[in-house]
Amino acid sequence: MKGPKIKVQGSRFKVQGSKAGTAPIPISEVGPKLSSPNSELRTPNSKRLGLFGGTFNPIHLGHLRAGIEIQERFSLDQVLFIPTAVPPHKKSDNLLSFAHRLKMVRLAIAGYPFFKASDIEKKRTGKSYTIETVRLFKEKVQSTADLFFIVGMDAFLEINTWKDYKDLFALSHFVVMDRPGYHRRHLKEFLRREVSPEIDFYPQEGRFLLPNGCSIYISPITLLNISSTRIRALLNNHQSIRYLLPEGVENYLYKKGLYAS
Ligand code: NAP
Repeated sequence: MKGPKIKVQGSRFKVQGSKAGTAPIPISEVGPKLSSPNSELRTPNSKRLGLFGGTFNPIHLGHLRAGIEIQERFSLDQVLFIPTAVPPHKKSDNLLSFAHRLKMVRLAIAGYPFFKASDIEKKRTGKSYTIETVRLFKEKVQSTADLFFIVGMDAFLEINTWKDYKDLFALSHFVVMDRPGYHRRHLKEFLRREVSPEIDFYPQEGRFLLPNGCSIYISPITLLNISSTRIRALLNNHQSIRYLLPEGVENYLYKKGLYAS
């Protein structure tokens, strides 16, 4: 379906004409029901592409398990793991080079057919703003695909600090990975305030729907209590990191002596 055009006016979306400068790209409707996600989410003839952005410093089993569950739940044709080249919001202490982080992503996903690594953010200079990455995908790389940007709840709740964040909701759906302790009511208030007052919520599907057809899905995932910060700390203390990340990544970290002081 062709979604209605949206216009960003001040801090809110308006469904009308096209936004000055760049015409918004319609997002295909994905259907209101998620009760049988594998069949009902599929839009005929359009590729469904998950964009999983992250610093991945380093990638670990929490990221990978989440990627698999979301790929299956949303019937994604592919999930692209996109290491951030220059994280806009993070200090660069302990940040490994892009080449090391990309290599570890490649090692981690090797052999899993639905996963692919993308070096798209390395091809630009300056900070790696998500809006520029998504625009590139939508305009040049996968112009006919339905995009689903996959992001954790913590990162999503800061989206109002991201560059041109409102424009993101005209280019991609979102899959927000659920975290314990978060309340949907708060998220609804957050989205109404920061994105659009005209947002609808379908509780049974965990789906927020914007007037332009963009959906923001709140997706449960198996929560593995693993963090990149903890892995770096263990390595720094010369403690084992076994079973927190794929063996290939573990071996790479040891071979290169990464994160160890
Ligand atoms: P990260 O720390 O490397 O983590 C990647 C994602 O995986 C995050 O969304 C994180 O969710 C999630 N995650 C972490 N541990 C997990 C676990 N055990 N199980 C399941 N999921 C887990 O990524 P990040 O540095 O927060 O960046 C996320 C994305 O936001 C990147 O694409 C980045 O470029 C983008 N970003 C853009 C801007 C901008 O454009 N201005 C600013 C900031 C971030 P949680 O957040 O919930 O931990």
